[in-house]
Amino acid sequence: MQGMSCLFCRIVDGEIPATVVHETKTTLAFRDIHPKAPVHVLIIPREHVPNAVDLDGDQLGDLFAAAKEIAEAEGVSETGYRLLFNTGPDSGQEVFHAHLHLLGGARL
Ligand code: 5GP
Repeated sequence: MQGMSCLFCRIVDGEIPATVVHETKTTLAFRDIHPKAPVHVLIIPREHVPNAVDLDGDQLGDLFAAAKEIAEAEGVSETGYRLLFNTGPDSGQEVFHAHLHLLGGARL
């Protein structure tokens, strides 16, 4: 179920442009609009799930499999990178469509 008010659902639907770097049947990955590292990619399930803790095992597996491929494509798999989920207001989560941050390309 995709909400018209959800920013990332609108990116999935192509209504809002994004620099897509990877996609699968179940996931989409695009560059963060305000990157906090030289490589900053957001990896999301195509399905609307508000929070990372609500993702099922298959969805989590798909996000992490995508992250591994993106890290290789972005040239950070050897140097290392950070994967993180913000979950809930105190974490600073701004967009309530689960997303895995991939940050790398510099010493973090
Ligand atoms: P959060 O704080 O919810 O974990 O992360 C949301 C991320 O989405 C932020 O890093 C923010 O820069 C990014 N972001 C917000 N709006 C847009 C947008 O319209 N396009 C893209 N590509 N990233 C966005």
